[in-house]
Amino acid sequence: MHLFFPHNCIGCGTDVLNDENTLCAHCITQLPETNFLSTLNNPVEKLFYGRMQVEQAGSAFYFSKDSLLQNLIEQLKYRENQVAGLFLGKMLGNIINNAKRFDDINAIVPLPLNEKKLFKRGYNQALLLAKGIAEVWQKPVIENAVERILFTETQTKKDRILRWQTMEGVFKVIDASVLKNKHILLVDDIVTTGATLESCGTSILQISNTKISICTLAYTI
Ligand SMILES: [Zn+2]
Repeated sequence: MHLFFPHNCIGCGTDVLNDENTLCAHCITQLPETNFLSTLNNPVEKLFYGRMQVEQAGSAFYFSKDSLLQNLIEQLKYRENQVAGLFLGKMLGNIINNAKRFDDINAIVPLPLNEKKLFKRGYNQALLLAKGIAEVWQKPVIENAVERILFTETQTKKDRILRWQTMEGVFKVIDASVLKNKHILLVDDIVTTGATLESCGTSILQISNTKISICTLAYTI
């Protein structure tokens, strides 16, 4: 493992940190917390007003360019740093756990990647976050119940307008039986407009007696 992920803090480079950590205690305190997850009517909840029924929503940190958080998200998404993914997920899990507002959630669903992206990246970064959350929060992670549809070249041409309208992604429920009667926490790395999460959440809400809450690692305007 150390050959691929030298064991130094991604923030400051110190090597005084234990095996599972990506950041040292000092750098953790430098991350810009939003406190959204413990706040009613926070900006992430407001994103979904009038678009989709969301029970609770929030992000852990503010995203900004050239920040430590951007570096962490790059590690998570593009550098195959799965240790960082689990570490960030565990941080997120602790924040959700402390917020208490999310206690009636039954299961965690990572926002799916389409097949092409999954193949290219080798893993779904949202799944790593979900697994990290579950490690500290003891809720089951449900994978592969929802699929993100990949548009083919012909579909793109044929349905150019549809493609434009649904650029953020189209989702299809594969296994409704594992989701029905559940309050689902949808997890992704970053929320901007909320369009992708809305698209996925709306598909899940077609299943009988489901509720949606949302959490992301980062929030950006
Ligand atoms: Zn550090």
